[in-house]
Amino acid sequence: MVEKSISLKAYNTFSINVLAQYFTSFDSLGTLIEILSDNKYSLNEKLILGGGSNILFTKNFDGLVLKNEIKGIEIVKEDAEYVYVKAAAGENWHQLVLYCIDKNLAGLENLSLIPGCVGASPMQNIGAYGVEIKDAFLELEAFHLKEKNIVTFNATDCQFGYRESIFKNRFKGQFIILNVTFRLCKNPNFDTSYGAINQELEQMGIQELSIQAISQAVINIRSSKLPDPKQIGNAGSFFKNPTISAAKYQALKDKYPEMVGYPIHYSLSKATNSLSVTSLKEPDACKVETFKLAAGWLIEKCGWKGFRDGDAGVHNKQALVLVNYGQASGNKVYTLSQKIILSVQEKFNIILEREVNIF
Ligand code: FAD
Ligand code: NAP
Repeated sequence: MVEKSISLKAYNTFSINVLAQYFTSFDSLGTLIEILSDNKYSLNEKLILGGGSNILFTKNFDGLVLKNEIKGIEIVKEDAEYVYVKAAAGENWHQLVLYCIDKNLAGLENLSLIPGCVGASPMQNIGAYGVEIKDAFLELEAFHLKEKNIVTFNATDCQFGYRESIFKNRFKGQFIILNVTFRLCKNPNFDTSYGAINQELEQMGIQELSIQAISQAVINIRSSKLPDPKQIGNAGSFFKNPTISAAKYQALKDKYPEMVGYPIHYSLSKATNSLSVTSLKEPDACKVETFKLAAGWLIEKCGWKGFRDGDAGVHNKQALVLVNYGQASGNKVYTLSQKIILSVQEKFNIILEREVNIF
């Protein structure tokens, strides 16, 4: 059933109260096709919604919001090394991670407790604690809104980059991701390169590394640092971590010796001309041309940590997270983000890019 003039407050983790002109959910491809073949909505702008945890609404949405609720997780293939798990787009991301951990399948444990749905995970190649979904991704199936056909994308087709994919760029708004298949390891290759994980594992008194232990360590760290959207509205990191040249990094490092940066290598994608950036697990001095900085540190240095203007603010434990304390409008949060971008630019000559999708 398509509803009219529905508040989206409960459908976005920023808890921004805007209206959708039309709103409906679908739990199968058949229902989706039925809705889309209704001429009444053919000219309307469409917005595919998962958990609404990476969105900032700055105005009412004059179009049709389609909430993806296609469910199902299944093992589709197995070989000597891997088990292939296919998850429908409407599945909760963390539930998929727990499903894999329960079956002792490794690859997604560092990505524990990321809010949202499976279908949105390839959108920005979700990443945390040294791992990105591209590391365990096999393929996805997506429905083309105009052509009304299903297309399969492998990892190369998706053009994954740092919090990027083809679906956030060239194909923005064109496809509805229906399901994603992951390649999970039977014999885990643990990634604890991210300092905070090792510290937490030590504090937990873990003697023998396991995917369960890594997942729990990540859950512990995240729960202690990040605001729970159920308590305070937010969409996680509002900005991407910027990358700068080695020369610029050195100049800043001379001025701010305490500044932390991570060496990265990059490749220029010919197809999109967009940068695909990957952190180097083991820094290789010969390849290092750019560095990734922690945007949260830059914002904090500009004095924004804990800032509050009415109900819009900057989280007091992690300056990268903008928050809605209750009744902030999307515009108020957006204006705050503009001010932060300007002040970081003035102080460091670095232009921060928003990670959150603005509507
Ligand atoms: P939504 O917010 O519903 O949608 C995001 C975008 O994807 C929109 O443009 C939407 O139209 C599109 N979209 C959604 N589903 C589909 C689909 N099926 N097909 C096509 N397009 C679709 N992100 C990280 O990468 N790493 C983190 O560690 C992380 N931590 C977070 C912590 C907190 C507390 C919060 C609130 C957010 C965090 N995020 C993180 C951001 C967010 O959780 C992820 O980006 C997540 O994948 C978004 O999923 P969602 O279902 O909520 O997407
Ligand atoms: P943190 O540990 O305080 O570190 C700050 C930043 O430094 C991170 O953003 C991270 O970049 C980078 N970093 C730290 N250690 C690194 C290492 N060993 N190698 C490469 N980069 C390193 O970060 P945090 O805010 O608590 O977040 C922890 C992780 O969860 C991060 O990976 C972060 O991306 C992820 N997270 C993402 C969101 C989101 O909405 N996108 C929200 C919360 C947490 P990277 O971000 O590139 O990893």
